[in-house]
Amino acid sequence: MLTDHVRQECFSSGHLAKIIDNKDILASVKRIAAIKTDIVMGNTNNYDKLKMNNSIAVIQGDITQQKVDAIVNAANNSLLGGGGVDGAIHKAAGSELLKECRKLNGCATGEAKITKGYNLPAKWVIHTVGPIWYGGSQGEDESLASCYRSCLEIAQQQQYQIKAIAFSAISTGVYGFPVERAARIAAREIQRFLESNNSLEQVILVCFSKSSYDSYLSAVNQMSERQLD
Ligand code: ADP
Repeated sequence: MLTDHVRQECFSSGHLAKIIDNKDILASVKRIAAIKTDIVMGNTNNYDKLKMNNSIAVIQGDITQQKVDAIVNAANNSLLGGGGVDGAIHKAAGSELLKECRKLNGCATGEAKITKGYNLPAKWVIHTVGPIWYGGSQGEDESLASCYRSCLEIAQQQQYQIKAIAFSAISTGVYGFPVERAARIAAREIQRFLESNNSLEQVILVCFSKSSYDSYLSAVNQMSERQLD
């Protein structure tokens, strides 16, 4: 089964082939382990759409459907629900989520708070508030990086037992952050975290549209290419 999936990953020209060509045994083994994790997680139907870089995966899909331990909501400062992915998460989780959010007294931009997932397949929802894009001179990059760090900081706390986490494309919807720039920040912060922390086994970037998927996949691949150099 594993062999089939390794083959499906465009063995002759894909990322795995590249790291084998580079004679990087450790990276090759890590890559195969990541494929196995995906099979164990039951994502094999999506496999042709899924491209992984060690433990960062990028998929196109609906975050409310992800069977992971925690999903990350791109919320607003009130934490009382909104449109976009926030609305979809509240709808799928049910009204208990809003009740819990009311007790949290909102959330500052760049920070994160955790709730239960209620009717979602995910046990937890980590709510973070991304920056609104004002042109790039208002600290937007740093605020977005801080969102990823804050979510990952919560996710690694032992009491939540989070091994797999799925992020939405924070700030890239109505908040207007340029997608390619946001994708580079996401890839960099997640990779930095994974390098210094081994509590998480799988981080998934869930993109709603094909163009968003292409941007996040390209950011993750560029980062891994830089690492192989
Ligand atoms: P923000 O206000 O932080 O920009 P949005 O919800 O407007 O948040 O958009 C963030 C990203 O989430 C956008 O790329 C949007 O296309 C995407 N999105 C919207 N609904 C979903 C969903 N159900 N699953 C995953 N991503 C979604």
